[in-house]
Amino acid sequence: MSEESICPKEEDCVEELKLPGMLDMAKNLIRDGVKITSNAISGNSTLVDDSVRELRIKTCRECPQFTPDERCVECGCFMKIKVAFVTSKCPIGKW
Ligand code: SF4
Repeated sequence: MSEESICPKEEDCVEELKLPGMLDMAKNLIRDGVKITSNAISGNSTLVDDSVRELRIKTCRECPQFTPDERCVECGCFMKIKVAFVTSKCPIGKW
């Protein structure tokens, strides 16, 4: 028995990934920038090591909130950059 799609058209079944609005993305960017700067001023490490960065980006790439241009629909951030910082966190707690 073959499986048939219940969708009338393929595009009806693809959930559109929408980034947050510009204001929310600006707030996220400023908040993250403040955290990174405060951490650096305190003399703490700013960047995670390669293994942590790779594990984070792997988690993102397997996440349904990850866009084809490597952004997160929860925060709007470019994840290749965000995963590198010690103070960064996944907005839904995946890392
Ligand atoms: S930061 Fe979290 S929610 Fe966003 S793409 Fe990565 S794992 Fe998914």
